[in-house]
Amino acid sequence: MPDDDAIRCDACPVLCRIKPGRTGACDRYGNHDGQLVRLDPHIVLDRAVSRGESVVPFLEREQEWDGSLVTGRENFVTAIGAGTTYPDYKPAPFIISSEVQGVDMVTVVTEGIFSYCGIKLKIDTDRNLGAETNLVRAQGEAVGHVTTSEYGSQMLSLGGVRHLTGGSRKEGTVTCDTLLNLGNGKAAELTIDEGATVIVQAGKAPIVGGVQEKRMRVGCGAATIGMFAKQWLHKVDEVVVVDDHITGVLSEHQAGKLLGVPETGIKIKGRRSTPGRYFQVAEPGTAWGGTNIQDPLSILKSFNPRKAWPGLRLLMVSTTGEHYAYFELDEAFNPMEKDLPVSLKEPVARIKENCEPALCTVLFMGGAGGSLRAGVTENPVRLTHSVRDALTRVSCGGAPVYVWPGGGITFMVDVTRMPENAFGYVPTPALVAPIEFTLELSDYAALGGYVDHVRSLESMMSDERRRHLSAHGNNPWPLAPAKTRRET
Ligand code: SF4
Repeated sequence: MPDDDAIRCDACPVLCRIKPGRTGACDRYGNHDGQLVRLDPHIVLDRAVSRGESVVPFLEREQEWDGSLVTGRENFVTAIGAGTTYPDYKPAPFIISSEVQGVDMVTVVTEGIFSYCGIKLKIDTDRNLGAETNLVRAQGEAVGHVTTSEYGSQMLSLGGVRHLTGGSRKEGTVTCDTLLNLGNGKAAELTIDEGATVIVQAGKAPIVGGVQEKRMRVGCGAATIGMFAKQWLHKVDEVVVVDDHITGVLSEHQAGKLLGVPETGIKIKGRRSTPGRYFQVAEPGTAWGGTNIQDPLSILKSFNPRKAWPGLRLLMVSTTGEHYAYFELDEAFNPMEKDLPVSLKEPVARIKENCEPALCTVLFMGGAGGSLRAGVTENPVRLTHSVRDALTRVSCGGAPVYVWPGGGITFMVDVTRMPENAFGYVPTPALVAPIEFTLELSDYAALGGYVDHVRSLESMMSDERRRHLSAHGNNPWPLAPAKTRRET
């Protein structure tokens, strides 16, 4: 039976009918006395500019707006809480004019619904998380895959339209939930097929198999040899830096050769790449240098007795300095473990000192599609060209984005530079992310923008639904004329 008091939300394709006092399926919209309202506050960023007052991170300075259009403070209306345009041909929810350095500017804001989106996750760890292309799961559902490792970090690619829409309903829902949590700065537990379980959170250390990672490697094994060879000279006869990718051997490495380190007769298992650089000394794992070995001697073959000598001093160390062991050869050329000599304590500590804190980095990546671009101009390709020509600045909750070269507007943003809880979702399923386009008013008119819908910044400020936050101190201020941006 139809409920006459219910109203239709048309902010996404779900088209919820919402009864009085209730919310829609995504909890973003509600029926308030017969009015469709966006329930979360609409976020406006403040920047203190008078007297060179420093800008503090917004999370430390959340405040109530005092009602004045402040002197010495600039405001930027973000898309967080602004609402969504659907279907595509309608103008964006807010198109706001402001004057900056004598130039009339326009910011078009909307909460975009992203089906084509995902997260690129950088996890600083040497511990092997799983083989490339293996599936990444959350709550047992496939939500992404392992992609190519980077220097000192392992990379996961999560989300994407195939997991959001191409699998089962549960796969899509769990994928959306995982992206939402990570985008909003929350933790997520991920399990890699035939690999590790890892807890990840933007800006926090990863927890791999229940162990919190502390440091990311200073370099590969061979690079570590090159960096610290001089500091080991005369304190030890041989150094092996154990690494799942490239294990380094001091006496064979070019650094050792140039420093006059004599041959030691050491022999390493694995595949020799170039002098002093060995691949595949063991299987990948979560022990020494990202290998599966607990005993470093397991990667050595017998010493060559014609070159080795009793008493030869051998240091074995991992790429983070987390694992190390010291040996001396006995009369039969067998390595015997001994306490680390005092003279080697500092060189080992130096490796650790050069390892930066291990963190998780969460980059949201999305493609601005029809509703976004058509909400800005009736001729969407002109917006793409305007972004390409650097006339239009794209921001995400006020945070700077990297726009990929090539066609379309495909961008990435570091979620830690955005206000907290900037992301939402709709049950299609898809992510909802804020996006703002800022350009000069004259350029906006030239690209066929909805100039009839432009409203002043002042007219926005009187609405009590807006919440003011201080701008993130490390972000460039998003409201700057293109000419100024090009000059800086
Ligand atoms: S899911 Fe949310 S945005 Fe979509 S129609 Fe329902 S209330 Fe509106």
